[in-house]
Amino acid sequence: MDAKFYGLEKVIKEWEEAKKDPEKFWAEKAKLITWFKRPDKIIEGHPPFEKWYVNGLLNISYNAVDRHLPEKGEKVAFYWVNERLESKAISYRDLYCEVNRAAYVLKELGVKKGDTVSLLMPSIPEALYFSLAVHRLGATLVIHYVGLSPETLSYRLNDCDSKVMVVASKGFRNGNEIRIKDFVDKLLNEYKTPVEKVLVVKRGYDDFNVNKMDIIYEEVKPRGKVEVEPVAVESNEVATIYYTSGTTGRPKGLTHTNGGYVVALNTAFKSIFNPRQNDVWWTISELGWPVWPMANIYVIPVMGLTGVLFEGFIGYKPDLFSRVVERFGVSLVWSSTTTLYTLKSLGEESVKSGDISTLRMILNTGEPLNVGAWMWLREHIPNVYIADAYWMTEHLYPVAATPFGIAEIPYKPGSAGTKFPGSEYVVVDDEGKPLPPQSKGYIVLKPCSPALAKMHKDHNGERVVKTYWSRFQGYFYTGDYGYVDKDGYLYVLGRADDVITAGERIGTMEVESVVVTHPAIAEAAAVGYKKDGGEGILVVAVPKKGVSESQELENMIKEYLRNSGYIVDKVVFVRRLPKTKSGKIMRRLLRALVRGEEIGDVSTLDDPSIIEELRKALGQ
Ligand code: ATP
Ligand code: MG
Repeated sequence: MDAKFYGLEKVIKEWEEAKKDPEKFWAEKAKLITWFKRPDKIIEGHPPFEKWYVNGLLNISYNAVDRHLPEKGEKVAFYWVNERLESKAISYRDLYCEVNRAAYVLKELGVKKGDTVSLLMPSIPEALYFSLAVHRLGATLVIHYVGLSPETLSYRLNDCDSKVMVVASKGFRNGNEIRIKDFVDKLLNEYKTPVEKVLVVKRGYDDFNVNKMDIIYEEVKPRGKVEVEPVAVESNEVATIYYTSGTTGRPKGLTHTNGGYVVALNTAFKSIFNPRQNDVWWTISELGWPVWPMANIYVIPVMGLTGVLFEGFIGYKPDLFSRVVERFGVSLVWSSTTTLYTLKSLGEESVKSGDISTLRMILNTGEPLNVGAWMWLREHIPNVYIADAYWMTEHLYPVAATPFGIAEIPYKPGSAGTKFPGSEYVVVDDEGKPLPPQSKGYIVLKPCSPALAKMHKDHNGERVVKTYWSRFQGYFYTGDYGYVDKDGYLYVLGRADDVITAGERIGTMEVESVVVTHPAIAEAAAVGYKKDGGEGILVVAVPKKGVSESQELENMIKEYLRNSGYIVDKVVFVRRLPKTKSGKIMRRLLRALVRGEEIGDVSTLDDPSIIEELRKALGQ
C-alpha cells in the first residue's frame, strides 16, 4: 500500500484518540506554551459556554519573546520587506527591546488589563511590537483593516470600546501611498468614538497634522533599556477581537482567549507544518485578516521561528513572490486563496524569477482552492507541497485540513482535506440528520477545541447560541455547504446561503470550478436568480487578459458547462469581481444585484465603486 495511506491511517488514529479523550489530548498540548501557573482544569462546562485551562496563568508576550532570549537572542525573529525589496532583520533580542519600549509607552498612556487597544497599520515591524506590547500588559488587541470606510471603522471602535489607537503615518501598497493618519483625522473629526489617544508611528515622515489627541511615538519612545513586567493573565481572558470577513453578512465581533486560543494555534501548525527551527515562514495576508496575527503574533514567535513580514501587494510586480522567497530562503508560505490565484494570473514569472528551491510547503486558507489553480501550482512548482486548512474566525482551529506535519497523506484537489485531530465535522440534511458520504448538505461542527470563539458583548452567550447553535440541534453551524467523500475528505462547495436550487441543489464552487478551467476565463462567480418559480444559474466571469467578450465566447462557456452537466442561462462578463478586504468573492452582492434586492452590509467590500460597475454590466 502507498505510504500516504499509512499516513492517513496515522492521522485518523490520532483523531480518534483526541475524540475519545479530549482532556488528555489538550492537556498534552498545553505544554507547547510556558505557564506562570499551570491550569487547575483542562475543560470546564460544554460548548459554547465552556472554559479552557481554567485558572492557568500566562502572558503571550512572555511566550513570544522573553522565553527565547537565553538561547535565541541573536536569531532572526522577523524579516520585514516591501514591494521595492527594501528590508530589515529583527533578532529576538531586538524584538524584546522594542516590545518593552512599546509596552512602556502604552502603559504610560494608561493601558491596562481589561482595556482594548486598536491598531491601524500596514505589515511593518511596529505592528508586531505593539501587538505584543498590548499582550504584555494583559490588554485586548483589535487589529483593523487599513482601508475600511470611516463609518465602518468608527462603528468597530465603538463596538470594541478602544480608548487608545496605534496608527502608522502611512503605508504603501501596489505602488501607492496610503495616508493612514489623514484618514484617522477625518474619522475622528466626523464620527463620535471612544478614542482619547492616538499614538502615531511616524516612519520617518512629517507630512501629516498633529492634533490634540496625537502622540508621536518616536518622540516619546524610551531610548535606553526598559523592561515592563509581563502581566499574568488567566487563560480565559480575551486576548483579541476579530471581525469576520463579511462575506455572507454584517461582520460579527468574535473573541479569542489568551490561553486556549494560543495553545490551539500552536497545535494546529505543528500538525500542518511541523516547523523546523531553521524554517523561514512567510504569511501573505493583509493585517486585518486573522491570518496575519495568527501566524505572526501567536505562532511564529511563540515557536521561536523566523517569519517574514511583507508590506504591499504581491501582484505589484510579477517577480515579487519569487524574489522574496529567494532573498530570505523562505521555506513555508501561508497564503490566502486569492493570492494563489494572483500568482497564477501573473504567470510563470511569479514562481520562476528567483531561486525558490527552499520552499517546502504552501498552505491555502480562505476559500476552496480551485482545481485549476492547484494544477497550475503542481505544474510550475512540483516540489512544493500544497496544503489546505479550512477554518473560520469563529473556530480558529482547522475543521478539515491536510495535516502534513503529522504524516504525508493523499492530497485531493478541490477538497479542504481530512479530519483534523481535535475537531470534528459532520455534514447534515435540513433536519440536522447526518448524511452518508457523497451526499451534499450543511457543514456543522461538534467542536471541542479551545479556539472556538465567543461573541463580543455577549455575556450570557445568547447571541452565540442564536447565531451559531440554533439552526441544527447540538451542532455549531458553519454556514457552509459541502460533502464528505468515501475516504472521509471534506469538500466545501460554497456558502449555504449561495446554494442554487436549479433542479437539484448546486454549490457555487461546483459551477465555478468548471468555468475557471476554460482557457479564456480568469475568475468566475455563479449566482442563482429567480426563474419560473425556481432558480436558474447565471455566471459572472472575468475573461483573461487579451480575451475579448463576445456572444460567441458566452455560447462557448455555456456549451463547456453543459458538457459538465450544468445548464447555465446567462454568462455576464465583467472586468473584476466584488471582493471583501480579505480577497473573497462577495457573491451575496452579485445575487442582490441580479435579483434587484437590497444590497445589505457591504462595509468590507474592497472597492465600493465596483457596485456601479456591476450594475451596468448586469444591465440593472
Ligand atoms: P462572514 O462570516 O462575515 O460571512 P467569512 O465567513 O468570509 O465572513 P472568515 O471567518 O474570514 O469570514 O472565513 C471563514 C470562511 O471561509 C469559511 O466558513 C469558509 O466558507 C471559507 N474558508 C476558509 N478557509 C477555507 C478553505 N481552506 N477551503 C474552503 N473554504 C474555506
Ligand atoms: Mg463566516
